[in-house]
Amino acid sequence: MHVDIVPVGEVAAPVKREASAGLRTVYDCEVTVHDAQPVPDGSYDANRDQFRAEEFIELASHVGSGEKNIAITPKDLFYRRRNYVFGLAYLDGNGSVISTYRLQTSSDGGFSNRSAEDIFSDRVRKEVVHEIGHTLGLEHCDNKRCVMNFSPTVREVDVKEENLCGTCQRQVL
Ligand SMILES: [Zn+2]
Ligand SMILES: [Zn+2]
Repeated sequence: MHVDIVPVGEVAAPVKREASAGLRTVYDCEVTVHDAQPVPDGSYDANRDQFRAEEFIELASHVGSGEKNIAITPKDLFYRRRNYVFGLAYLDGNGSVISTYRLQTSSDGGFSNRSAEDIFSDRVRKEVVHEIGHTLGLEHCDNKRCVMNFSPTVREVDVKEENLCGTCQRQVL
C-alpha cells in the first residue's frame, strides 16, 4: 500500500514525521509527503469559526496520488452536527483528514509521565492510523486499547494504543 500525506496549511515538520512513522509502523506501507497546500476555498464556516472536514478530504484525494491519501492540518475541523472532529474518513474511500488543532492539549490528565511533545506525537500517530483504518474498511472497534476505538476526547485517544487489535488486524493486514 502507498499512502500520500498532504499537509494543508502550516504543518510542523515533526507532525509530518510522526504521521509517516506511525503509518509505516502499523501498515508497513510506503509514504509520500507532499508540499503544503493552501486551505481549500470555501471550507471556512464563519459562524462556527471552523473548517468543513469534507473539503480537506477532497483536496487530499485530488493532490495525493496514493492508494490512500490523508490531509493533515492545524485548522479546527467540524463535520455535520459534530462540534469538532479530530479526523474524518469515508469507509473504503481513498481520502481522509486529521486536524492537530485539538490534539495539542498539553496535559494528559496524569495518565502518564510523558512530555507534552511526546503525548502530542502519539496522538498524531494514532489519529492518522485510525483514519487510514477507516479507508481500509475498518469501523469503530469496542476494544478501548485498539486504535480503531472511537475517541471523541484526547483522554480516550491517550488510553488507546497506536496499533490495531488482533480482530481489526485480521481484517486488513
Ligand atoms: Zn473513527
Ligand atoms: Zn480493533
